[in-house]
Amino acid sequence: MPLLARMVATPLVIDVRPGAIAGLGALLADRRIATAGRVAVAVGPGQGDSVVAELGVSRAEFFRVPDGSHASAVELGLRLRADHFEAVAGIGGGKTIDVTKFAAHMAGIPMVAVATSLSHDGIASPVSTLAHEAGKGSYGVASPVAVVVDLDRVRSAPGKLACAGVGDVVSDLSAISDWELSAADTGERVDGLAVAMARTAAQAVLWQPGGDRSDQFLTVLAEALILSGMAMAVAGSSRPASGGDHEIMHAIDQLYPDTASHGELAGLGALFCAYLREDSQQFAAISECLSRHGLPRDPRDIGLSLPEFSRAVAHAPATRPGRYTILERLALSEAEVAKRVEEYVRAIPG
Ligand SMILES: [Zn+2]
Repeated sequence: MPLLARMVATPLVIDVRPGAIAGLGALLADRRIATAGRVAVAVGPGQGDSVVAELGVSRAEFFRVPDGSHASAVELGLRLRADHFEAVAGIGGGKTIDVTKFAAHMAGIPMVAVATSLSHDGIASPVSTLAHEAGKGSYGVASPVAVVVDLDRVRSAPGKLACAGVGDVVSDLSAISDWELSAADTGERVDGLAVAMARTAAQAVLWQPGGDRSDQFLTVLAEALILSGMAMAVAGSSRPASGGDHEIMHAIDQLYPDTASHGELAGLGALFCAYLREDSQQFAAISECLSRHGLPRDPRDIGLSLPEFSRAVAHAPATRPGRYTILERLALSEAEVAKRVEEYVRAIPG
């Protein structure tokens, strides 16, 4: 009988728990990852020496990742390749993981993602988002071979970035709606498995009560971000996790750099797209979830005036040619966008 199934490449190991970082030494000693034990560890700027001490990896060489730029990723990639490392672990927030994933791909070696914040769904995805001279770019790379999330580190991470990934994962609902819209309007094929993974991830976070940093909440968020990243690997594109919501984010990043984080902008974009789609159920659910977690819903929450946000919405379709979403369907003029933005902010529940 033929094997009528598809094979899905997934990480060898997924470890989400308090204190998980202490298991990294044993993980890197896994001979499937590094035969001779020649491993590099890339550490983000927010990570002090305490993280290095906690690792239990004596033979590794350490590198500091200064920022989330393409230049830093290339520099790290060159060093990994020149010094013949067998594997690299990236420890830090979203930017450090993106830089290390790209560098590992460039050097042709496996990468272990060690997340100390839950800011976006790049933890387990085959995509690296990096800053360059003209804004930000998304690059296709190999997915991590192992994913470690240390809940203690996430809980003690400073600022609201630690859990901004809530906005990124709930934006999957908007991305899926856009994908289904494209299927109806353009005949684009929808991948049911990728949708099942992305939608389940988003729903789990959407309906997880509490905005605290309890183990229960952080576990659901971490696992949802991992599933969302794997949905992209299954689909072979960012489609299940990126629709009009992410087009608006890319436009804001291009027009007004460093306005807010990936997760904050994705959540805001998703809420606005749900409004445009006149999906009152999705709008209410995403609005309630973002509000519960202190994430922005009104553009003015992140310092953008309504005309500035309108300009970004009008520019959004140009950031991702070929992707059909509610923005392409409506093809609003600048005057129409401005009117819808005014209506949108009035519709946000108080
Ligand atoms: Zn995203």
